[in-house]
Amino acid sequence: MTPFAERMSRLGTETAFEVLGRARALEATGRKVVHLEIGEPDFDTPRFIRKAAADALESGFTHYGPSAGLPEFRQVIAEQWKAERAIPCDADNVVVTPGAKPIMFFAMLALLEAGDEVLYPNPGFPIYESVANFLGAKAVPLVLREEKGFDLDLAELESKITSRTKLLIFNSPHNPTGAVLKPETIEAIAALARKHSFWILADEIYARILYGGKHLSIASLPGMAERTIVLDGFSKTYAMTGWRLGFGIMEKKLAAQVSRLMTNSNSCTATFIQKAGQAALTGPQDEVRAMVAEFRVRRDTMVQGLNELPGVSCLVPDGAFYVFPNIKGTGMKSADLAKALLEEAGVACLSGTAFGEHGEGHIRFSTANSLQNIQTALQSINEFLTVRAK
Ligand code: PLP
Repeated sequence: MTPFAERMSRLGTETAFEVLGRARALEATGRKVVHLEIGEPDFDTPRFIRKAAADALESGFTHYGPSAGLPEFRQVIAEQWKAERAIPCDADNVVVTPGAKPIMFFAMLALLEAGDEVLYPNPGFPIYESVANFLGAKAVPLVLREEKGFDLDLAELESKITSRTKLLIFNSPHNPTGAVLKPETIEAIAALARKHSFWILADEIYARILYGGKHLSIASLPGMAERTIVLDGFSKTYAMTGWRLGFGIMEKKLAAQVSRLMTNSNSCTATFIQKAGQAALTGPQDEVRAMVAEFRVRRDTMVQGLNELPGVSCLVPDGAFYVFPNIKGTGMKSADLAKALLEEAGVACLSGTAFGEHGEGHIRFSTANSLQNIQTALQSINEFLTVRAK
């Protein structure tokens, strides 16, 4: 007898958590490890946000709340996203969830039938492919190529659209490459979605971590709000990964379905955490700006250091806090290099293949660590590669 449902064999994972576990196990044996594997800001959540949570707890936000989120919080989100990203929406379009990941899961659960096709970026956040497979949908990769600055290849995209295409997922700024899609690319994706009538899941979780230009939300383009789920949250922008707070903005009938999935799973997102999120959005944003400025300095140090290593080259990312160097010149496979860097150089990073098969030839470093630790890591990697090249 098989103990688990067959669908469990189709569920993938997020390798970052496994590598973190292995790195911690090495540390427990006395080894020093620089953590460049996990995608979480190393900064503390700003104090005024922590205080808002404490105040909310004291004033009784300790009970169940509405499944879709507190009305006043949804209202603030709708007003800000309408003002900043020109997304036509009101509070009824917003569903608040514990972290942004459930938006991915619930929106796909609400939309996909077995056999539906899902276009998704590869390399890309591994959960897109995992959930599509889990639901019996067909995950169709859109290969992001370094030669094109990891922009989406529109000709390839068009060639992969079929009558079963139900959903296209994209993520800009992008994890793991840090690439930001060009406005022309986003406009072309919108035109294809309207023409072929498919849904878009726009993962905008890194939209406020941009090193130039202005974020363009596909949901702001004509006719797109009704077919787009905008995924966003507090983990990255406000250094709130452990709080678990995210949300989606979507067409109202879909929002009602996603809210019903919340009722059936989490019941609601913790209300004192929503109050903290509301404070984050309405409070001063200078700490966010300071974090982004610091990420930029680290990015520049990292990219410059990587480009000086034997067999390594690295593009300059325009957003998020990752770099995705090409390591083909080392002669090693991505997974082997990532493993050796952890075990021999004491640097934890992820194999490009943790983001899909088209990540081969690359590894991902998160720059969510101090400049000093980044410099230590670069030196250790240099020593490792130089000895190997001899
Ligand atoms: N989307 C992308 C592209 C991410 O990198 C992550 C987190 O790593 C998420 C979504 C999930 O964010 P959260 O921690 O809010 O669930």
